[in-house]
Amino acid sequence: MSLYIIGFPGKYIQGAGALEKLYEIIKNKKAVMVADDLVWDLVGRTITEKAAGVGAEVFRTKFQGETTQKELDALLAICKEHEISYIIGIGGGKALDTARAGMHFTGIPLIIIPTVASTDAPVSSLTGLYSEQHEHLCTIRTGRNPNFVIVDTSIIINAPKMSFVYGMGDALSTYFEAEAVRLSGKENGHGGRALRMGTALCKLCLDTVLEYGRDAVKALEKKEITPAFEAVLEANILLSGVGFESGGLALAHGLHAAMTGDPGFAPAPHGAKVAFCTMVQLILETMNGQDRRGYIKTLAAFYEDVGLPYCAADFGPTGSDDDLRERYRRMAEKALNNPNNHIHKMPFPMTVDMLVDAMMKTSEVKKHGEYQG
Ligand SMILES: [Zn+2]
Repeated sequence: MSLYIIGFPGKYIQGAGALEKLYEIIKNKKAVMVADDLVWDLVGRTITEKAAGVGAEVFRTKFQGETTQKELDALLAICKEHEISYIIGIGGGKALDTARAGMHFTGIPLIIIPTVASTDAPVSSLTGLYSEQHEHLCTIRTGRNPNFVIVDTSIIINAPKMSFVYGMGDALSTYFEAEAVRLSGKENGHGGRALRMGTALCKLCLDTVLEYGRDAVKALEKKEITPAFEAVLEANILLSGVGFESGGLALAHGLHAAMTGDPGFAPAPHGAKVAFCTMVQLILETMNGQDRRGYIKTLAAFYEDVGLPYCAADFGPTGSDDDLRERYRRMAEKALNNPNNHIHKMPFPMTVDMLVDAMMKTSEVKKHGEYQG
């Protein structure tokens, strides 16, 4: 494997009022929008009405909340019946993923409009397909990023505060996972190696969140769009999205995947679990001789200030240390026993015991604000 690969959305547009750009793109065309009822009431209906004013016709699939074959079939049927020029995914992760799957099976250009900044999925080329019972069936590698990503800051500033904070949790993992993949020489999300540009984006993502994250949260609390808020929004969505695919995923997202199988941790948002698992990765790296003490201390202080979890007591099940250790053991086994888990992209071999020890150590970091030993 010697190719260096990076992927981008065709065009990324961010700022207050960015949604207006949509009407230039779809003018005199037919489009289909994947939106749930909440998003439809928030912006969907208005978009359809305003689109009519520029000669565009926007159909809608009433999204029910999960990326299933049934949802996909409903979308494909509209694409087949009408001469659709654009698929628009609007809302949170699942509606966007369904629209992305639609692009994959029809070849129709995709416009993504996130209404929250809780993960780095909007710019991604990957999408998951699930059963009606929310069980993950497969990951579809579409091979292309969205044609347009439109991030209207005036919409995101009104989203729940913690969705943005969890987006920072997801973004903070990007650099550390990319570094692990670079050191191990394994593949990134495009099946290649990271270009210098990809690595630089991951570092910029980390630096931006750490430098402006606290101010961005304060701005969000006051519903004020500030340069700090715009900077972290860019980090949460664009830098982290391009970064994770072009840099690659490792322990933080691999362990996160195993965590979704534990009923005590599963309900926590994606970014909360990833924030915790990033701390685990840094602890494990330090235990393995790569000194991450400085980053552990920096992240612990940041997590503390913005409300991101970094030990089980923050967001997981309450129970004895023995109970916790047993849960961690099951997660570690699940991750390590799955040959496709991103955890195998770490640059050193791991055992279940090493992983469990690193997870248990998170509560010590919580207590002291730093790694000791
Ligand atoms: Zn993520």
